[in-house]
Amino acid sequence: MSASPLQVQAVHKSYANRKVLEEISFSLVPGEIFGLIGLNGAGKTTLIKILLDLIDAESGGAMLFDIPATDLRARKNLSYLPEKFQPSRYLKGLEYLDIALSYYGKKLDAALARQYAVRLDLDPNVLDSRVGSYSKGMGQKLGLLGAFLIDSSLLILDEPMSGLDPSARIKLKQVLMDNRELGKTIFFSSHILSDIDEICNRIGVIHSGQLFFIGTPHEFKEKYQEASLEKAFLKSIRAA
Ligand code: ADP
Repeated sequence: MSASPLQVQAVHKSYANRKVLEEISFSLVPGEIFGLIGLNGAGKTTLIKILLDLIDAESGGAMLFDIPATDLRARKNLSYLPEKFQPSRYLKGLEYLDIALSYYGKKLDAALARQYAVRLDLDPNVLDSRVGSYSKGMGQKLGLLGAFLIDSSLLILDEPMSGLDPSARIKLKQVLMDNRELGKTIFFSSHILSDIDEICNRIGVIHSGQLFFIGTPHEFKEKYQEASLEKAFLKSIRAA
């Protein structure tokens, strides 16, 4: 059996004696889209930062492809897009992509980048302009474009839909599903629950530091007897 792209084992984290994550454990199945749901401040970004070794867990930890997340080699097959991503304003779009790919020892194919930009609702002509002339949404799309062009087996995206207009969100969802078809594993956080419901194979729901549900969106809606994920989520956190 192939290694799990991500295994999280009993992660605990506190900030100044305040518990933010308690005993978080789960693992991803290769080729799935997994959505992490939680209110603002629930601990999603903190968890993602621990997976990337950007901050330390208090106890517990994570493995990426059976390699501890604290080992640099674990990130060889991972691309990550942080929340509210904005590349340096002094770089042209293609220059940013060139740098992003060079970290992975990969060469930029500018023609492919332009084609992929269209798939993300980004005008390919702007790749020749400096990021300083981009809108917020365009910067976010450039970050996403880089994450997809790296072509890694695991993508971790922190709130990738936020800041995108509905047309770009629809396109991004299609690109995420196309990447799943190619066998990639995608882990992303969002509070746009309709998007999660549409594309995720499984979800994890985090509240008050605890991951209290892991399963399919359908199972979650059944559990809380609601037709929409949004209503089920609200019911679940009221009950938590
Ligand atoms: P989410 O991504 O779900 O919105 P975060 O992981 O960003 O949540 O934050 C979880 C909680 O931890 C919040 O209450 C936030 O204020 C707190 N927090 C996050 N980073 C820090 C930090 N560096 N120092 C202290 N508290 C923090």
